[in-house]
Amino acid sequence: MQITRRRLMATGTAALAASTLPRRGWTQTTLSLGDTEIVTLSDGWLDLPPGFIFAPMPQDELAAVLAQHGIDPGAPLTPPCNVTLLRRGDTLALFDAGAGTQFSPNAGALPDALDAAGIDPFDITHVIFTHGHPDHLWGVLDDFDEPYFANAEHWMGGAELDYWMDEGTVASIGEARESMAVGSKRRLEIMVDRITRFSDGEAVLPGVVAALTPGHTPGHMSFVIGDGAEAVMVLGDAIGNDHVAFSRPGWVSGSDQDQETAVATRLALFERIMAEGLTVVGFHFGQGGIGSVEATAEGYAFRPVT
Ligand SMILES: [Zn+2]
Repeated sequence: MQITRRRLMATGTAALAASTLPRRGWTQTTLSLGDTEIVTLSDGWLDLPPGFIFAPMPQDELAAVLAQHGIDPGAPLTPPCNVTLLRRGDTLALFDAGAGTQFSPNAGALPDALDAAGIDPFDITHVIFTHGHPDHLWGVLDDFDEPYFANAEHWMGGAELDYWMDEGTVASIGEARESMAVGSKRRLEIMVDRITRFSDGEAVLPGVVAALTPGHTPGHMSFVIGDGAEAVMVLGDAIGNDHVAFSRPGWVSGSDQDQETAVATRLALFERIMAEGLTVVGFHFGQGGIGSVEATAEGYAFRPVT
């Protein structure tokens, strides 16, 4: 067992914590593909202002679409956060690391979800990032700024890593995202020597191939696990929700950094998903985040595996 400051602290407080703290709820969905198991673990949820996603959309048509999904346009949004775990033999690979403790009060629950699944963070072999946003990246470090998954290989798309490490990003990203960019840069500076870079089309694990899906962020990556009718695509935020992004995939979204590029990526992704019959995992989709996609009159619908 590896000794870290976090481990020493945890040993002292575990008994107390177990007896006094209420357990958080989390969703968890498991899918088996031959020798590979895909599990979503809840990192909790975000608390976003109502306009965050919807502001740039055609407001005259938006209300009816939101009503179909039971969403109150004036209420805060609380999208769930699903971290994907791939288990195959001794491989325990996470797609994204969750938000950690310093981003959002109701996110950062991944350690609890791992604990509930009986998984020690020291046994995680790979952490493979979709992109550098805080809810996906900031859980990479513990409260002592040490790698939370201390024994894991860490992988990030080269273009995405370069973007968040670039001095110019903090200066140019805009006021609303500036503190986020500062926080992501700081964490990546600590981690960069441990990070393996990869590109579009490269295998990050045997049978797991990266697909560049830019727009949400410049170097955003999705991943296809397996092939044929059983293949599963870990989308990250390339399709950012299971409501408007499905019903009206051609509408720009306020959550995407380059909104036009994100639309083109999203439309191409849906075409690929339908053509290949892919099962999908969405980081911010409801009901565990894993499901299939169905065509509808004006877009698509998410059909969760439950
Ligand atoms: Zn994101």
